Amino acid sequence: MLKKLSDKVYYMPQYSETDRPTLGLICGENFSVIVDSGNSPAHARDFLNLVEQIDIAPVKFVVITHWHWDHIFGMDTMKLLSISHNQTKDRIEYLKTLTWDDASLDSRVETGEEIEFCSSMIKLEMPTRDHLKLKAPDISFNSTIELDLGGVRCIVEHVGGVHAQDSSIIYIPDEKVMFLGDCIYQDFYSGEWSYDLNELTVLLDKIKKYDVDYYVTGHQDPKTHAELWSWMDELIQIGEIVGEESSLDKAVARYNEVQKTLPSEEQLEYIQNFVSGNQKKLIRNEA
Ligand SMILES: [Zn+2]
Repeated sequence: MLKKLSDKVYYMPQYSETDRPTLGLICGENFSVIVDSGNSPAHARDFLNLVEQIDIAPVKFVVITHWHWDHIFGMDTMKLLSISHNQTKDRIEYLKTLTWDDASLDSRVETGEEIEFCSSMIKLEMPTRDHLKLKAPDISFNSTIELDLGGVRCIVEHVGGVHAQDSSIIYIPDEKVMFLGDCIYQDFYSGEWSYDLNELTVLLDKIKKYDVDYYVTGHQDPKTHAELWSWMDELIQIGEIVGEESSLDKAVARYNEVQKTLPSEEQLEYIQNFVSGNQKKLIRNEA
């Protein structure tokens, strides 16, 4: 069953075993819109089967939050008009030139173009990929695009961030719901998982300007306004404590000094993320 988040918004929960992200459904009086297309033809079909069971206006569009495989591999199966940011379309056009068999994935992991996590999840979700066909979005936009579904509007806005520079959010003002995709997550495509305090602050300012009761994230359960912002506030606080520090030991020592307590496992991971971000910045500046 699809879960109902508000009067006109539904979602299918994420499934971490094979990295299936949360998929969304926004229902207007004239037509309905899907958020993200799933990580495989099977994921897309599972979602469409659930959508068919509820009495709503026909689904006309799928909006894509960012280019990562787990959000786009179901696009061709959905047979809908697809919408994304320009950069998302460009990235998918490139992905279409690649091959996705085990040997090709392994060699891209070898060269560092693909990461081991995604390669193994792709193999788990789709043991064979002979019939996998990637599709580039039909409609692309530059900064924002607005959809009027009849009685309910969607604002799609490009927000970027370290996780994927092309990330867009989908905001439904009438329902006070926002789909974040993966935009608040770490950069995990360039070495150690990392955050950058500056980029995170810029991103969160873009998100904060909207009045939201529920946030839907790509790989967790939806979060209330209070839940998301207590998490983000803590993340920012850790980023501020780490500052420009690029040594993990020194950053942890500073955390102990400021907070008068040892970091939890999760807090330690975030400290590591900001330290890694600082290290990447140093390498960039040297280059
Ligand atoms: Zn992602």
